[in-house]
Amino acid sequence: MPHRSHNDPHKFRRRGVLFVLSSPSGAGKSTIARKLLKADDQLEMSVSYTTRAIRPGEEDGVDYHFVDLERFREMVANHEFLEWAHVFDQRYGTPREGVEKILASGRDVLFDIDWQGAQQLFQLAGGDVVRVFILPPSLPELRERLVNRRTDSMEIIDRRMARATAEVSHWDGYDYVLVNDDVEQCYASVHTILRAERLKRSRQTGLIGFIRGLNK
Ligand code: 5GP
Repeated sequence: MPHRSHNDPHKFRRRGVLFVLSSPSGAGKSTIARKLLKADDQLEMSVSYTTRAIRPGEEDGVDYHFVDLERFREMVANHEFLEWAHVFDQRYGTPREGVEKILASGRDVLFDIDWQGAQQLFQLAGGDVVRVFILPPSLPELRERLVNRRTDSMEIIDRRMARATAEVSHWDGYDYVLVNDDVEQCYASVHTILRAERLKRSRQTGLIGFIRGLNK
């Protein structure tokens, strides 16, 4: 059994963190999300629904739930999304049920959603939401990363770059902003933010009993 200090955020019952990571595509967000999930067993990814086509290397149910427009609209009508938005002419949405399941299991939820999703989630869940924005070191460097990734045509890359500029303009809607000029360092900072947020007094509902015990 690992040693648990009294500062261990998992020792006492607490409110779950809804941890949102946003960035323009290619700024390193998915690498950071992967590393976080691997290193932290108290964190689970919210798998979104999307109408966009599956890319090579992606897995249905793991990267996204890939659905057609009709199914997506049906889910919207049935209030199955906590939030949803149009991104790149496609629709993306966070399933309510998936998030509730993760929270019920006592874990925190990681979201890879855009600024519209971050905003909607914040309106819905306020203090439970932590919004982190990751900036690329520069826009030319971002373009280079997208080209090297070899997943999109030049036309799509041009559109992603236009969108990246628009996305960056929403940085002020976030609680934390980081520049990803070194992925290891950026990941370490993001994990530090998550750990600190878990220790916030407002989340540590289970501490009340502990503190009462201390005073006896
Ligand atoms: P991609 O198509 O490259 O996987 O994702 C495109 C953008 O959609 C990314 O910025 C990603 O964060 C965002 N996105 C993915 N899932 C959701 C979602 O459920 N809701 C919202 N609002 N944005 C999402």
